[in-house]
Amino acid sequence: MKVFLDAGHGGSDPGAVSGGLVEKNMTLICANGAKNLLEKYGIDVKMSRTGDNSFSLYERADMANAWGADLFVSCHFNAGGGNRGEVIHSVFGGKGQILAQNIANELKNLGQENVRIYSKGATNGSGDYFTVIAKTNMPAVIVEPCFIDNDEDRVLADTEDKQYLVGVAIAKGILNFYGLSYAEDEFMELNEINDIVYELKIRGIISDTELWLKKLSEDSNAYWLSKKAIDFIRRNGV
Ligand SMILES: [Zn+2]
Repeated sequence: MKVFLDAGHGGSDPGAVSGGLVEKNMTLICANGAKNLLEKYGIDVKMSRTGDNSFSLYERADMANAWGADLFVSCHFNAGGGNRGEVIHSVFGGKGQILAQNIANELKNLGQENVRIYSKGATNGSGDYFTVIAKTNMPAVIVEPCFIDNDEDRVLADTEDKQYLVGVAIAKGILNFYGLSYAEDEFMELNEINDIVYELKIRGIISDTELWLKKLSEDSNAYWLSKKAIDFIRRNGV
C-alpha cells in the first residue's frame, strides 16, 4: 500500500489566506497528521513536499506516478464563500469515489456537518478538470475540509492541533478504504529487546532466540524494523 500525500501549495504560492490562517502551512501540518497515522499501519507514504517548497500541479502528479503510488490524496483548505467540506474525485468514479466517501465520513465524524462529494469535468473535451486528478495514474482525491474565510466553518481547522487532527481524520478514511479498522487504543509498545524477540518467537517468525537477541542488541535498524513488524502484525492479524 503506497499512499502519496500532496500538501497543497507551498513556497511562493500561499494558497488561501484569511484571518491569520495560511493554506500552505495548514496543508503541510494536515498531511503530516495523515502520514503519521498511516505509517503506524505499515502503509508507505510519500509527500509532495516536507518543507515550504513550490511545485507545479503537474510536478506533483508526476512524482506520484514515478513512485507508483496506489492512491493520491491532495490536502487543501477552501476559501471564497462557502460553509462545508468538499472531497473531489474523478469524473470516472471508481475507487477514487469510494475513497472520497470514506474521507467525507471521517470529516463528518470530526465535526464537519456538511461535506460535498463531487467531480468536475474538463472545460474542453473529456476527462477531469483538476490537474492532479487528471494527470495521476491512480485513484486521486482533493480534500477541502472547510472554508477558512468563513467564521463558522474555519473552527474545524483554526489551530495547528486541529489541522493535524484533520489529517488524522483523512488517514482514518484511507484506512477504512483499505478495510483496516482504526483502533482508538494503541497497543502497548514493546521497547525491550527481550520482549520483542519473545513475541517474534511465539508468533513463529523466528526460531533462534539467541541469534535474534544478539542481532537486535547490535543492530539498531534490526531493532526498529522488528518493532515496526510486530506493530504491523498485531494490527493486521497476520
Ligand atoms: Zn488550495
